[in-house]
Amino acid sequence: MARKILTEHINVPGIETFDVYRKQGGYTAVEKAIKTMTPEEVVEEAKKSGVRGRGGAGFPMGMKWGFLAKPEGVPRYLVCNADESEPGTFKDHHLMKCIPHLLIEGMIISSFALGANKSFIYVRGELMYVIRILEKAIAEAKAQGFLGKNILGSGYDLELVVQPGGGAYICGEETALLESLEGKRGNPRNKPPFPAVKGLYQSPTVVNNVESIANMSWIINNGGDAYAAIGIGRSTGTKLISASGHIQKPGVYEIELGVSVDEFLNSDEYCGGIRKGHYLKALVAGGSSVPILPANLITKTAAGEDRLMTYESLSDGGFATGTMLGSGGFIVFDETACIVRNTWNFSRFYHHESCGQCSPCREGTGWMEKVLHRIEHGHGSMHDIDLLVDISKKIEGNTICPLGDAAAWPVASAIRHFRDEFVWHITHPQEATAPGAVYMGEMV
Ligand code: NAD
Ligand code: SF4
Repeated sequence: MARKILTEHINVPGIETFDVYRKQGGYTAVEKAIKTMTPEEVVEEAKKSGVRGRGGAGFPMGMKWGFLAKPEGVPRYLVCNADESEPGTFKDHHLMKCIPHLLIEGMIISSFALGANKSFIYVRGELMYVIRILEKAIAEAKAQGFLGKNILGSGYDLELVVQPGGGAYICGEETALLESLEGKRGNPRNKPPFPAVKGLYQSPTVVNNVESIANMSWIINNGGDAYAAIGIGRSTGTKLISASGHIQKPGVYEIELGVSVDEFLNSDEYCGGIRKGHYLKALVAGGSSVPILPANLITKTAAGEDRLMTYESLSDGGFATGTMLGSGGFIVFDETACIVRNTWNFSRFYHHESCGQCSPCREGTGWMEKVLHRIEHGHGSMHDIDLLVDISKKIEGNTICPLGDAAAWPVASAIRHFRDEFVWHITHPQEATAPGAVYMGEMV
C-alpha cells in the first residue's frame, strides 16, 4: 500500500471540521513552524523536500520561494491557485472539499515562511460550495487563534481571503489570475517580470497550487529530507492523480511518484485496468495541455524502458519534455474513442478559452478548430493534415502564455501518432461520419 501524505485522513468522518482535523494531528505543523522555526528555516525545509509545483509546470517550490523579492516596506503576498480548470483535472477540488483544513494549515505555514500578512485562495468560480467550505474552515481556524492577529501569541498576523474566480480557464494562468484578483479582466502578463518580483498590486508574490501548499504540513512535521526520500530522482513525494475515461475505477488517487504507469493503470489499488472487453488505445497523462500518447508508448518508452509516473519519464520524446505529468489529469481512451473527434473537442476548448491578446493563439486556435471540424465532419482534404502541423508550429513558443503551446501540442501529437486515423477520416468521409464510427486500423 502506497504512503499517503495528503489523503491519509481524508476518509475520517467529520475531517472537514476543525475539531476532527485537530484530533488527527492537524495544526501541529503550524505550531512547530511558528513557535520553533524562523521563516528561513521553513523555506529551507521546502527546498530540501524537492517538492515541485503540482499545478502542472513542476517548477521546484522551494526555489520559487527563494526567488521572492524582499524590498523594504513593500508587502509580500501568497496566492493559492485553486482555479483548477484543466480538462480531466479534479484533484484540488477533491482536496479542498474533503479536507479543507489541510490547505488552510499549509497556507498559514507558507505565508509565515514568505513573510506575507495577507494571503489569497483564488477558487474556480463555479465551485461556490467549495468556497463556502473553505470560508467555514477559515472561520474555525481563526476562532482557535491560528489566523488573524498575533497567531499563537507569536506576533505574526495573517488574514486569509477566499476569492471566487472569474469563470474563465485563462484565469488559472498565474498572471491572469493576479489581474483578475486585482479586479481586472484576466489577461496574462508578459513574463519576466515574474510574480516573485512584481505580482499582485506590483508587489512580490508567490503563486502556488493547492496541492503544493497542502504538502507543507507533512514537510514541517517530518522534515524536507523525509519528503525527498519518497519518490524517485527529481520527482519527490507523492502526487494526486485524477483518473478518468475508459477505466474500471475513475477517481482521485495519491501515488508515490515513481510507480509505473502499468501499475497505476492496471492494478486494483488504482485504476483497475481498462473497462471489460475493451483495450487501451491512447492516454493523455497530465490534463489536456500535454501531448497524447498512443498505446505502444504508454507503459514503455520508445527505448523500451518502463514508463514511470514521474515528471521525467512521461514524455513522447518529441514534444514537451519534463512536464507531461502536468496537472495529473490522467485521461484514458479505449478503442471506441475517436482521436480526430477528441482532438477537435480539445481544440474547440482552447479556441473558446483563448483570451485573444496574441494573434498566433487567437487566430491559430480558431483556425485549427475549423480545420479539425471539417475533417471530423467529412469535408477535409489531405492538405489539411500538414496545414494543422504547420499552424501548431507557428503557435508553439510564440505566445504570451502557455495556453498557445497547450493548444498546439495535443493537435501536433495526435497527428504524429494517429496520422492514419486522420487520413481515414479524409479518404472515407461516409464511413467516418456514420454514427458511432471509429477507425479500427493500424496506428502509426
Ligand atoms: P511556467 O513554467 O511558466 O512557470 C512555473 C512557475 O515558476 C511559475 O510560478 C513562474 O512564475 C515560476 N518561475 C519560472 N521561472 C522563474 C524565474 N526565473 N523566476 C521566478 N519565478 C519563476 O508555467 P506556468 O505558466 O506556471 O504553468 C503552466 C502549466 O500549467 C502547464 O504545463 C499546464 O500543465 C498547467 N496547467 C494547469 C491547469 C490546472 O487546472 N491545474 C490549467 C492549465 C494549465
Ligand atoms: Fe491569451 Fe492565448 Fe496569448 Fe495566452 S497565448 S495571452 S490565452 S491569446
